[in-house]
Amino acid sequence: MTDIEILLAQFEEIANNPKKQLEQYISEGKKVIGCYPYYVPEELIYAAGMIPMGLWGKRGNPNKAKEYFAPFYCSLVQMNLEMALNGDLQKLSGVVHTTLCDTLRPSSQNFRVAMDKIPMIFLAHPQNRKPEFGVEYTMAIYSKMLNQLEEIVGRKVSAGDIKEAIKVYNENRQAKREFVKNAGMHPELISAVQRSAVLKSSYFMEKHLHTTMLNELNKMLQASPIEEWHGTRVVTSGIICDNPSFLKILDDNRIAIAADDVAHESRSFRKDAPYNEDPIRSLAVQFADQDQDTILYDPSLNSRPSHIIDLVKNSNAQGVIVLMMTFCDPEEMEYPSLYNALKEAKIPCLKIGYNHQITDFGQARTSLQAFAEVLSMKN
Ligand code: SF4
Repeated sequence: MTDIEILLAQFEEIANNPKKQLEQYISEGKKVIGCYPYYVPEELIYAAGMIPMGLWGKRGNPNKAKEYFAPFYCSLVQMNLEMALNGDLQKLSGVVHTTLCDTLRPSSQNFRVAMDKIPMIFLAHPQNRKPEFGVEYTMAIYSKMLNQLEEIVGRKVSAGDIKEAIKVYNENRQAKREFVKNAGMHPELISAVQRSAVLKSSYFMEKHLHTTMLNELNKMLQASPIEEWHGTRVVTSGIICDNPSFLKILDDNRIAIAADDVAHESRSFRKDAPYNEDPIRSLAVQFADQDQDTILYDPSLNSRPSHIIDLVKNSNAQGVIVLMMTFCDPEEMEYPSLYNALKEAKIPCLKIGYNHQITDFGQARTSLQAFAEVLSMKN
């Protein structure tokens, strides 16, 4: 095995075993806080000396969670509650539940009723996040979240602790952005399955440790010669795309991920928290600066399609694969504008249905094979 392969195997081991990571933290006497998507200021949890762990559902079918949701709730939310009801989350010291879409909002109340033994921190981000009143509102809810974390951990968190956490997180975001670029330039060294594992593992690791490993990987990739890629290159877009069975189809058809607009991946680390004497304001401004996301208010109505077209051009991709999360209203409602913009820009686009329950991607395989042929003709 090469040094790159050894590191990639370590990332894969962590990405595929979040339960093992959780057990390890608990055995070390650490407190762990589960974080729903999207835009939880994990820096506050890190500053309080606790471990934030991402809750993005898990593969499988909801069973117990069905009692709490109508069947048209997305699988991410259903499987998060299923994990809680199955006892997978019982060792958490708390869960931060966000509310940025019409599914997350009611889900927060279902979670509260179903899991009254796990402290739940309710985080209602504002959609009007950019004007000063929006920034101040975000600061108020982040301060409240900090108070709740202090109660859980049993100590006060200083501004210095939060500033240090922001530094650690900004470094991690920078390393992930570098990695996405490096992976796009080296598809012969980083498969789609491995790319996903490297990014996913960060949800289960202490960020400074993830950064150390990732910087090492980035250094090795940057030192590797760029080889000609005998395949096609795409930009992926959607909420989550972490199923190895699906990603392996991309690898089998030599479809490289040149860049992504995926919430679980690049959307989560696009923006750093800028320096401010008040670190809570830094985090609120960071959220205010987020854009090009289906779950965020966009008065221009057009920033995400333009962003994806730029991603295609800048990463030298030939097409876009949209992973459409079943029953995800924000993604479904935004799709027509994206489709039209890509069509106008003459960029081929393939939409594939995606959720945590799919085990057989047979239909997707056929579509992807055909799509790869279309793209190779564009070369
Ligand atoms: S944005 Fe979509 S996938 Fe995410 S929680 Fe809401 S409905 Fe589910």
